[in-house]
Amino acid sequence: MRAIAGKTLQTGENFLPHSFNEAVWYRVHGEEKFFLPRVLAMRNKEEALSGVAVVLYDVTRFRLLDAAKTNLVATVSHELKTPLTSVRMALHILCEKIVGSLTPKQEELAQAARNDAERLLRILNDLLDLARLDEGNADLRREPAAPADLLQAAAQDMAEAASLKGLKLTWSADPQLPQVSVDRQRISHVFSNFITNAIKHSPAGGEIRLSAALAENHDVQFSVSDQGPGIPEEYQTRIFDRFFRVPGQTKTGAGLGLSVAREITVAHGGRIGVKSALGKGSTFFVILQAAESG
Ligand code: ADP
Repeated sequence: MRAIAGKTLQTGENFLPHSFNEAVWYRVHGEEKFFLPRVLAMRNKEEALSGVAVVLYDVTRFRLLDAAKTNLVATVSHELKTPLTSVRMALHILCEKIVGSLTPKQEELAQAARNDAERLLRILNDLLDLARLDEGNADLRREPAAPADLLQAAAQDMAEAASLKGLKLTWSADPQLPQVSVDRQRISHVFSNFITNAIKHSPAGGEIRLSAALAENHDVQFSVSDQGPGIPEEYQTRIFDRFFRVPGQTKTGAGLGLSVAREITVAHGGRIGVKSALGKGSTFFVILQAAESG
């Protein structure tokens, strides 16, 4: 608590919690209580920092309910995953005509069903991931990685999807950047979520740029920029919430990708955000601490 308040005192940035994992606990009258802290910078008339206000919300009961909900979602997702995997497998076998030929109409139906099965599996995997991360079970396998390697791998993984939509996907990273300590698989999931969104929202012929640059305090900032429609300012913080989708937009999705990306970033001790201007495009970014050298 002292560290969080100290940081606001130093930087002037408010601290607003995102999940129950950030609750602090105190023993009150012999009972364990959980509180979500909010730290707000107080400024005087000249706008100079004069102190901080710390507000503690008692979330003891909500935390229990939240754990029960996470448990239920995880159990249901897990139970659905096995039969859905075999449905998907059967549809793949049909589409590949391993067990016999299909009429064009049958093939069209089987392919639509296969695409829907893939989409459902992605949603279930996201829900399972969120449940694991919620329990603080990120189980990160961290290793030092060069930012350039991470971006190159992300660009390679998504090259086909981008070119299918006629989009240019480029990456650049200063080779002098410090290494970051990450779970490669998890971080690549963050980048692929950003890039999938960029592909989804880019106009034909657009460019998607991946970059890594030095940020404050020797941190490394990874960014994914697109030339899409941009995100209205009032929704820019909400898009990282579960199931949130910008009203009125017509693209498919369950509104889970960015919340998974946020949880993975938070598990790494990093920060996630977006800069976007309507009609000009969006830049999603993740800021990670440099790995300890030596
Ligand atoms: P979804 O599966 O719906 O894309 P996400 O959590 O990945 O879920 O994104 C949440 C919402 O944020 C999207 O529904 C979309 O409205 C908006 N969004 C995300 N990325 C972009 C982008 N690059 N350009 C414009 N809007 C975006």
